[in-house]
Amino acid sequence: MKKYDVIVAGGGFAGTAAALAAARQGASVLIVDKSNCLGGAAVNCLVNPFMCYWTTASGKKLMLSRGIFEEICNELEKRNAMKSTLFLEEELKLILNRMVQKENISLLFHTYIYDVKTENGSVKSLLAANKSGKTELCADYFIDATGDADIAFLAGCPCRLGRDEDELCQPMTLCFRVANVDVEAFDKTSSLVNELYKKYKAEGKFRNPREDLLIFHTPVKGILHFNTTRIVKKNPVNAEDVTAAEIEAREQIYEVYDFLKNHADGFENSTLIMTAPEIGVRESRMIKGEYILTGKDLVDCKKFDDAIAAGNYDIDIHNPEGSGTSHYYFPQGQYYTIPYRSLLPKNADNLLVAGRCISSDHEAQASYRIMPIVCCIGEAAGTAAGIAKADGALLKQLDIKKLQTTLKNNNAFIG
Ligand SMILES: Cc1cc2nc3c(=O)[nH]c(=O)nc-3n(C[C@H](O)[C@H](O)[C@H](O)COP(=O)(O)OP(=O)(O)OC[C@H]3O[C@@H](n4cnc5c(N)ncnc54)[C@H](O)[C@@H]3O)c2cc1C
Repeated sequence: MKKYDVIVAGGGFAGTAAALAAARQGASVLIVDKSNCLGGAAVNCLVNPFMCYWTTASGKKLMLSRGIFEEICNELEKRNAMKSTLFLEEELKLILNRMVQKENISLLFHTYIYDVKTENGSVKSLLAANKSGKTELCADYFIDATGDADIAFLAGCPCRLGRDEDELCQPMTLCFRVANVDVEAFDKTSSLVNELYKKYKAEGKFRNPREDLLIFHTPVKGILHFNTTRIVKKNPVNAEDVTAAEIEAREQIYEVYDFLKNHADGFENSTLIMTAPEIGVRESRMIKGEYILTGKDLVDCKKFDDAIAAGNYDIDIHNPEGSGTSHYYFPQGQYYTIPYRSLLPKNADNLLVAGRCISSDHEAQASYRIMPIVCCIGEAAGTAAGIAKADGALLKQLDIKKLQTTLKNNNAFIG
């Protein structure tokens, strides 16, 4: 049985960046993903665009997410696949495949990790199933980039879910696209359409609890992107709840689409061309790691000694119970940092967690969960695992200065 230096579970932005960073430190790396491509929520859940990853300091634009994230953006731009922060996900899939192939990273798609073997406080292997049957995947170090902290949970590391008071998570959303829209005509009257939506909603004509229609342009002429369905009070790591969520969200999609077709200018000849392959999960299980990053840390713009990434996207909480979305916007020029300790689970000394499931509370997660920031968290996790492998070090005793210097040398921004 082949043993890797590092196995990355999940190939979203966090996992792909982690794998690239570990490989660039000289590690042999495998990425395992249950889907058929890299990109995670960006491609499986049609999440678009990249949310804000810069601020203005001393009159200059300061990019807070750089490193591998910037490389990916540059590749998208080279292929004419990025317009402002909107991107073409089909191009992203190809770019990420090529980037990992260039670093000789092994890939295993269509492979679901269902269990973990542990020994004396370390993860020994991942147990996965695919068309070849059951397989055991061994490595010295593991990075959990599953979004749901599946590996940490299966390894018995303490985890938490959603809000402290009731474990409710932010709503799930099934995104969709409508083509053949006269976008110019729609834009002229979209605010009136939103007013009508709100009126109908107040009259009880919509099952969707979302307060308004959240619609984005795309780089493709005549196609609009919808982040508009809202499924509340369901647990994203409960199989029955997720199934019910998918069914309810599809009803909500047709409800919104039929409404627009009947009432919105520009939708007369439109077609609902696609729904995302799977419902998007904003928030689910998170580890209770060596440090639990809090919303207060973010509001205080805390600069940690062991900072490995930075961000300033607003604390954007879609109401876990129904209508409404709350925001805390960071002052211009300000940003928070994310400590390395929030990537370290308890009870597993060769495991790091990267992406939207690091150790934090509900409020902090509402900000750092965006794609640019999780990409940088992934880069830090992969760099750390690569350094640990090269130095024969334990992740908890890693030379933080070396990690930070390596990240900075690789163009990451850590504050
Ligand atoms: C509806 C919605 C709208 C959003 N809007 C925006 C936005 O506009 N802009 C923005 O920047 N961010 C947005 N976000 C947030 C952002 O998309 C995610 O938080 C981010 O992409 C998470 O990245 P990740 O790498 O941590 O996890 P993911 O992208 O979820 O990647 C996890 C990967 O692990 C794989 N996986 C999971 N479990 C297993 C398993 N057991 N075995 C094998 N493989 C597994 C999955 O297939 C997936 O590829 C949104 C999220 C949602 C849901």
